[in-house]
Amino acid sequence: MQTIGSDRFQDIRDAVRALCADFPAEYHRKVDEARGYPEDFVDALTKAGWMAALIPEAYGGSGLGLTEASVIMEEINRAGGNSGACHGQMYNMNTLVRHGSEEQRKKYLPRIAAGELRLQSMGVTEPTTGTDTTRIKTTAVKKGDRYVVNGQKVWISRVQHSDLMILLARTTPLAEVKKKSEGLSIFIVDIKEAMAGGMAVRPILNMVNHETNELFFDNLEIPAENLIGEEGQGFKYILTGLNAERTLIAAECIGDGYWFIDKVTAYAKERVVFGRPIGQNQGVQFPIAEAFIEVEAANLMRFEACRLYDAHQPCGTQANMAKYLAAKASWEAANACLQFHGGFGFACEYDVERKFRETRLYQVAPISTNLILSHVAEHVLGLPRSF
Ligand SMILES: Cc1cc2nc3c(=O)[nH]c(=O)nc-3n(C[C@H](O)[C@H](O)[C@H](O)COP(=O)(O)OP(=O)(O)OC[C@H]3O[C@@H](n4cnc5c(N)ncnc54)[C@H](O)[C@@H]3O)c2cc1C
Repeated sequence: MQTIGSDRFQDIRDAVRALCADFPAEYHRKVDEARGYPEDFVDALTKAGWMAALIPEAYGGSGLGLTEASVIMEEINRAGGNSGACHGQMYNMNTLVRHGSEEQRKKYLPRIAAGELRLQSMGVTEPTTGTDTTRIKTTAVKKGDRYVVNGQKVWISRVQHSDLMILLARTTPLAEVKKKSEGLSIFIVDIKEAMAGGMAVRPILNMVNHETNELFFDNLEIPAENLIGEEGQGFKYILTGLNAERTLIAAECIGDGYWFIDKVTAYAKERVVFGRPIGQNQGVQFPIAEAFIEVEAANLMRFEACRLYDAHQPCGTQANMAKYLAAKASWEAANACLQFHGGFGFACEYDVERKFRETRLYQVAPISTNLILSHVAEHVLGLPRSF
């Protein structure tokens, strides 16, 4: 199937597809059934260098852009896998590369590139403040050469399969800053050290097989040298990660969308009811065609968001819009795929129900569709602020 961008990045697409072929749908299905983590798959991606795509060559990575990283994520999802197991390292990377000190880059990047460390976690969301990020209550108070962290996070993914986490905390009380986005800072946290010294992790069993957790900080001490960039400017830095996350997840949804369309198209051609293939009915054809059109349109916005991101230009709106369009399109493709598989769509062995659950997440996380609409209404269209 000829799709937007399918004639570009052929080397990357072929190589990732070849790797994914060793981990067929059955592998991902079994991991899902066991609520496990695709350790072998993530190891294979790491050994092949894909998890170091965004690390500059000088630190042992391949120095690729977000565009190429997004193609890697897209291909994993298109092959029936779920990048959610490992996309954290991709979206966190530029927070460290662009805002970390040379010392921090030298300390972490070569070891991440070599596969000795994983940077898979980002701790932003909190239970009592949700999407209202600037009101987070987790604090980091400087005491000598350390910051002491207290508070709580929720939905923090891959903590149990990562060595490092980027943590957002308030370093200046909200009442003492001019703008609510000021006074927030980000830190690189050594997860094992933190678990031994004041961070408790409680897993959250959820609808998708997605390792995610509640975190509790009780006087966790972080060395002051683990502060990324300038104290109080963390909100600006974390946006580098959040914009990458939205764009990469758009690409993953696009991969899902093509997977659903491939799957349902093949099924609709072969499933015969009333003496003809179900795909001969326009009632079946149209929702599939509509989903395909929407995935293709979302893909254009994804490449635009990637282009701006890689050019270090403002890309928040495009990243949000790409994620909005792609999550909506993949969800429509998922619905058509499930519907036209009839009862078989519910059978685990067809993988449709698993991918259906996986792609549904992206209407809510990492940012809900409502908050994207609100961003566009206020920041692009200039409508009055609602909050
Ligand atoms: C599986 C999973 C993994 C995750 N991984 C991570 C992670 O690794 N790190 C991390 O920091 N976070 C993570 N998250 C959190 C995720 O980013 C949040 O769930 C998401 O941003 C929504 O925040 P919330 O759940 O607090 O919803 P809330 O902010 O409570 O909002 C609930 C709903 O209300 C609506 N809403 C809220 N405010 C408004 C408004 N002003 N206008 C209109 N509608 C509104 C929206 O529809 C929204 O969906 C994860 C979540 C899940 C489910």
